[in-house]
Amino acid sequence: MGADVVDFVTRFIEDRYDAQTSDYSGLEPLLRSLSAPPPEHATALGQLLDTIEKAAGKGFDTANPGFVGYIPGGGLYSAALADFVACVVNRYTGVALPAPALVQMEVSVLTWLCEIFGLPATSQGVLTPGGSMSNFSAIVAARTSKLGERFLDGTLYVSAEVHHSIAKSALIAGLPRDAVRIVSTDDALRMDTDALRQAISADRVRGRTPFLVVASAGTINSGAIDPLADVAKVAEEEQLWFHVDGAYGGFFQLTERGRQALQGIEKADSITLDPHKGMFLPYGTGCLLARDGEALRRAHEVRAHYLPRPSEDPDLPDFSSFTPELTRDFRGLRLWLPLHLHGVDAFVRALDEKLDLARFVHDRLDGAPELEAPWPPELSLVAFRPLNGTNEDAEDLLDRVNSSGRLWLSSAPIRGDTYLRMCILSHRSHPVRIREAVELIVSSVA
Ligand SMILES: *Cc1c(COP(=O)(O)O)cnc(C)c1O
Repeated sequence: MGADVVDFVTRFIEDRYDAQTSDYSGLEPLLRSLSAPPPEHATALGQLLDTIEKAAGKGFDTANPGFVGYIPGGGLYSAALADFVACVVNRYTGVALPAPALVQMEVSVLTWLCEIFGLPATSQGVLTPGGSMSNFSAIVAARTSKLGERFLDGTLYVSAEVHHSIAKSALIAGLPRDAVRIVSTDDALRMDTDALRQAISADRVRGRTPFLVVASAGTINSGAIDPLADVAKVAEEEQLWFHVDGAYGGFFQLTERGRQALQGIEKADSITLDPHKGMFLPYGTGCLLARDGEALRRAHEVRAHYLPRPSEDPDLPDFSSFTPELTRDFRGLRLWLPLHLHGVDAFVRALDEKLDLARFVHDRLDGAPELEAPWPPELSLVAFRPLNGTNEDAEDLLDRVNSSGRLWLSSAPIRGDTYLRMCILSHRSHPVRIREAVELIVSSVA
């Protein structure tokens, strides 16, 4: 069975380079055939793999080198091997006692990440199912730490470009919907820290309790990085928790240019990262780093007498004390194996390649007479639109480009205008395909 599956995935990966970036043909009959309940008796694996292959081919292909929509995910083959092993071994890593050495492997990666972001020895990292869950735990930690149990007058501050998972997290964390303050942005779409100061003091006058500011390290629309050092300063003066949402851009910290662009991130009280974006790993791999591990623990820990004895070793934590999860997949191996197998440098070079490609894309598109790309990329995301075009023109260009089958991008509303955006973050997106992609865009608009 293993050999059959390896044959299948090998073919799947090889096919990605020629596969259409999207395919919705014949979807209805396929959906109908897949709605059947499981059979009473066994089916041959080969037949089931055929079904899986058909199903996996429908929709837009996020594993395709031409996929530059939203924030591309990864799907490193070595991480899939790690998952296969982890699922078969199936040791329990929700708390430390059942599999202390496996927990240590996961901890070693988390400690490395805390160091890369300049966080102190008191910090704690956890792997989560994704950036949304990381943001949620960060907001709960900020709320608990700054407001205690009476938090209904708490307010938090974000820019208009922030990811919606922050408002969603605030809602689930029990804060009223009007707790989220939108701070205006400058011409580069970064949070305006003067406006932030004014909003905070206006709220204090009104008797509200400002407790948290969230800065984006790479926004979803344009890739803008809020002025992290300046926001950190305001947070310090105003005694707010400072959270950085680096779900898209955080891992560029591994590169020289990324560290320049992300200066100030080391001041954060908490940082959201998404290894299933910036480390090219399969979906379901998020991360949260907290400067004060105890603050994260106080916001999440509940003990139960039927659980194994709690860990008393601060270097070997019970992960369930820091997140909403108890039983979880051993997702640590998904980071540990690729990092050890390929070495950190392979990731640094891959991320550097994305930075180079984004510059190239920006210059080529902004240089084309029919297009404008107003914001030079701070990381690997370029937003652009037809020069002097309407939103309809932009939508039309998007449709034409996406129907090529060689490229798939998404759009973003920025200050009322529709922009197309190319986010280069797939480990399979290399110069040849990206050059083809920009020429396709330029010829489509012409
Ligand atoms: C992707 C993303 C999120 C949400 O993360 P998920 O892994 O999709 O839950 C949050 N913030 C930013 C900036 C993102 O790019």
